[in-house]
Amino acid sequence: MPFPFSVYSVCSVGNSSSQLPVAIIGGGITGLTAAHRLARQGRSVRLFEGSDRLGGSIRSEHYGDWLVEAGPNSLQQTPALAAFLNELGLDSVKLTARPEAKNRYIVRDGRPLAAPASLPGLITSKLFTAGAKFRLAGEIFTRPQTRTADISLADFGAFHFGRELVDYGLSPFVTGVYAGDAAELSTRHSFPSLWEMERSHGSIIRGQIAAAKARRARGEPTGAPPIISFAEGLETIPRALARRLPPGSVELDASVTSLTPAAGGQPWHVTWTRDHQNATESFASVILALPASALASLVFNSPSSSQLSALGSQPLAPLADIGYPPVSSLFLGYRRDQVAHPLDGFGMLIPPAEARPLLGVLFNSTLFTGRAPEDHVALTVMTGGVRAPGLARLHDADLLPVVSRELAALLGVKGAPVFVRRTSWPRAIPQYNLGYERFLDAMTAAEAAHTGLLIGGHVRDGISITNCIASGEKLAARALTTLK
Ligand SMILES: Cc1cc2nc3c(=O)[nH]c(=O)nc-3n(C[C@H](O)[C@H](O)[C@H](O)COP(=O)(O)OP(=O)(O)OC[C@H]3O[C@@H](n4cnc5c(N)ncnc54)[C@H](O)[C@@H]3O)c2cc1C
Repeated sequence: MPFPFSVYSVCSVGNSSSQLPVAIIGGGITGLTAAHRLARQGRSVRLFEGSDRLGGSIRSEHYGDWLVEAGPNSLQQTPALAAFLNELGLDSVKLTARPEAKNRYIVRDGRPLAAPASLPGLITSKLFTAGAKFRLAGEIFTRPQTRTADISLADFGAFHFGRELVDYGLSPFVTGVYAGDAAELSTRHSFPSLWEMERSHGSIIRGQIAAAKARRARGEPTGAPPIISFAEGLETIPRALARRLPPGSVELDASVTSLTPAAGGQPWHVTWTRDHQNATESFASVILALPASALASLVFNSPSSSQLSALGSQPLAPLADIGYPPVSSLFLGYRRDQVAHPLDGFGMLIPPAEARPLLGVLFNSTLFTGRAPEDHVALTVMTGGVRAPGLARLHDADLLPVVSRELAALLGVKGAPVFVRRTSWPRAIPQYNLGYERFLDAMTAAEAAHTGLLIGGHVRDGISITNCIASGEKLAARALTTLK
């Protein structure tokens, strides 16, 4: 039931603060996971979401037989994630990427070429020159490194594998994950596993072999984690989480504007706004699962009985400097006979070195069943990112001709799409660039200054959905420890 809209406060006279609910601010996958876990542990929770829906960046939309993923399209299933999905009862609706989607195309000299997926594949691959293949093989002799300073992914990749592997392997991969620039991304923060592997093994190839051995020893699958989605799309996860929350625990259209930290025996106060009306509630603890811009603008009021911490009224203001390039996700439906390419893969990435306008194209109808009507195919074209932010901001009438020209040249697509759906993400994905520790330090300092404050989500704990679910779990565990 919606709240009555007046300025009011639910204070707990004679009630211990620690028995108050936990506030979770942000109803994306991180906040929902934290709320779910706390509720399962018997804690009362209140989740505040500024928009009119839950799920944040995860949005799956049905239009007849077309299933459009407006944001993320798939996720990697780690053993922990598999257990989580099982707990949510989602095993029967889970889809694993179809075997036809095994190729990953990378454009070189204007042609999509399959990236090698194995050692024999590498030897015969046309994507890399013989020189690049020899350079790659030599990586196995790299000795462990203890770097004193962070290094960009491009420089890290060039050190280990050579420049050609960066241009036609690492850079397109980074485009596919971050829509970012390998020359700016921090190895330490954007791919911490590579950073650790270099420290422990020197060679990344040897590190990968050791990691596979360790997984085998634990009885886990040794290959890459399976790529998954659901019959009704990725929004299945946030919907399942929302269904399991206790009635009355979620407030939609409830934008949190300010917090008053706990002090002098008083609990936390959270002030939220709906239709220009404010409401304030009291909490034992506050979890922030928000994008950087929302974190940066959160105002911390001075608790009446004490001074605000030395960090001031906007302790997370430095996070406003985190780069978040715009991305446009253009879902296009075609009749099968309009596309010459077999579309026998996950999709196609376009390296910056090719100087073409698109970031990449996902072959949705190959990847998972139920994405397009019979005899039709579905593609998702990503534009923008750090490389070409202006393209993501073009009007449809200007963007579509650019996209059509590229799809004709690269995939042999003829004629106009029979279905079009565009989603623009003005601030899509945070860039864990060199110097990112400045932002991590600001979050750590805010938590240290305000007992009961916990911060997580894609700004702190990794950008993938799998990372964000792990972040929500971690936030809930930390909240439970704090409240003991
Ligand atoms: C285009 C795109 C493609 C992607 N592709 C993939 C992919 O294929 N696989 C993958 O694993 N990941 C992918 N990602 C990344 C992944 O989807 C996100 O990192 C993840 O969903 C972020 O979850 P979150 O809960 O941390 O944040 P969000 O989803 O951003 O949720 C934060 C929530 O906070 C709300 N909010 C903001 N301000 C306030 C306020 N003041 N008060 C209350 N609520 C507020 C927002 O409305 C939002 O619902 C993609 C992301 C994008 C944008």
